[in-house]
Amino acid sequence: MKNIILCLSTTLLATCLILPVCLQSQATQLAEQKNKQAELNLDDTKIIKQFFDEALTTRETYDLLDHLCNKIGHRLSGSEGAAKAVEWTAKVMTEYGFDKVYKQDVMVPNWKRGEKEVARIVGGTKTNLTVLALGMSVATPGEGLTAEVVEVQALEDLESLGEEKIKGRIVFYNRAADQRHIQTGAAYGGAVDQRSAGPSMAAKYGAVGVVIRSVGTAFDDVPHTGVTSYKDGIPKIPAAALGFQSADLLTEALKKNPNTKLFLKMSCQTLEDAPSHNVIGELTGSEFPDEIITIGGHLDSWDVGHGAHDDGAGCMQSIQVLRLFQKLGIKPKRTIRAVMFMNEENGTRGGKKYAELAEKNKENHLIALESDAGAFTPRGFGVTADDSTIDKFRSWLPYFNQNTISYIKKGGGGVDIGPLHRTLGTPTIGFIPDSQRMFDLHHSPSDVFSTVHPRELELGTASIASLIYFIDKYGL
Ligand SMILES: [Zn+2]
Repeated sequence: MKNIILCLSTTLLATCLILPVCLQSQATQLAEQKNKQAELNLDDTKIIKQFFDEALTTRETYDLLDHLCNKIGHRLSGSEGAAKAVEWTAKVMTEYGFDKVYKQDVMVPNWKRGEKEVARIVGGTKTNLTVLALGMSVATPGEGLTAEVVEVQALEDLESLGEEKIKGRIVFYNRAADQRHIQTGAAYGGAVDQRSAGPSMAAKYGAVGVVIRSVGTAFDDVPHTGVTSYKDGIPKIPAAALGFQSADLLTEALKKNPNTKLFLKMSCQTLEDAPSHNVIGELTGSEFPDEIITIGGHLDSWDVGHGAHDDGAGCMQSIQVLRLFQKLGIKPKRTIRAVMFMNEENGTRGGKKYAELAEKNKENHLIALESDAGAFTPRGFGVTADDSTIDKFRSWLPYFNQNTISYIKKGGGGVDIGPLHRTLGTPTIGFIPDSQRMFDLHHSPSDVFSTVHPRELELGTASIASLIYFIDKYGL
C-alpha cells in the first residue's frame, strides 16, 4: 500500500515537473473565464443565447432570402425586380406585425444593359471573351466597335503613353486585385479605380472604348460588373469588364501581336429616372421612441445573378433582427428600424433620401448599422464613433462566442448610411463577416442563392441582433 502511494506521488511529481507551465496556464485561463463570466449579466447572456438559438433553428432569414432570390431575382434600380422586392418586403414586415411599415419615395437612375454584350479578339482564331458592360456605360455604335488595344496597368500609365498611343484605341486596364491582402476588401479597393475612373481618364486621351480585368478575387472566367462614372466635359465611351481568364487571353494575344484588335458590341442605355422607394419597418421604442437605431442593407442589386450576398442578405438580416426582438418578446427602449435602401449600386439615391428626410423631419438618430459585406461567417464590427463608445462596445465582446464576433475595430459603416453620418453626424457601424469569398462573387452572375450557407447567414443575423440589443438597452 505504502509502496503504491509512493509510486503514485512519484508519478504525480514527475507529471508536475513536466507540465507545470501547461497546467498553470490552463488554470489561469479557466480562472479568467470564470471571472469574466461572473461579471456578465445573466439576463443578457440568456438573451444573446436565445437570439442565436432562434436564428439557427428556425432559419427565417434564409427562407426570406430564398424567396427574394428565387421568386423575385435580381433587382437593379428601376427594374421590375426592384419594384417587386419593394412590395414584397413591405408585405413581409406588415405580416410580421411591426409597429410601422412605410415607404419613402425616391427617384432612381434607370440604366438598362440591353442585349448580351459581345467582346471578340479580331483576326486569328476570333476568340470570344466573357464580358459584361459596366453599369451606367454608354453603348457602342449599333454595328459594334473595332479598334486596336493598348494595355495598361494603372491610370497613371495613360499620361506617359499620351494621346499619340491612345487616340482611336480601346484601353485595356489589366491590373489584377492584389491577392496578398488577407481582407479582400482591400484587394478590391486597390483595383476598383480602373472601373470607376478608368473610362473617363482614357477618353481624355482620345480612347474610343475601355475594357478592364474584372475587379474580383476568383481565377475563373465570370465577369464582374459594377458602376462606372463619367466626368463632365469628357466624351462618354463604352466600358466593359472581362472575365479573369478572358483578360489573360487578351494580354497573351497582345504579346504575340501588339496590333491586335478587339470587337466590342453593347446596347446598354440610360433612360429617364424612375420612381422607386426605400422600405422601412419599425419597432417603436417604449422609453425613448424618438431615439432611432437604423439597421439596413440595400434592396437593389446588379442585374446579373441574384444579388444574394450583395445585398439581399443584409436586407433580410435587417428584417430578421426586428423579428428576433419580436419573437423573444423584447420591447426595445428605443425605436429600431429595418431599412431596405434603394439604389446603392449606381447612385446611392436611397441613402441620400433617407438622410435628407431625417434632417427635414428633425429626427434623432442614435446610430446606424449596415450589413453589406456578404452572408458569410461573422467576424466583427467596424464602428465610426468616439473612443468611449468603441470601448463600451468592446466591453460586450465576452457575450459573443469567439467563433462569431471576436473584435470591434475603429472605423466602419456603409455606403447607404454614409449620407446620414455626413448630414447629422450619426455614428455608424459596418457588420464585418469573413471576406474570403465575397469578391469571388461580388457583382457577378455567381452571386446566387445557392452560394449562401444558412448557418453563416443566421449567425450574422443573431450577431447583429445581439449588438443592437446592447445598444438599445445601455445606450452609447
Ligand atoms: Zn452592396
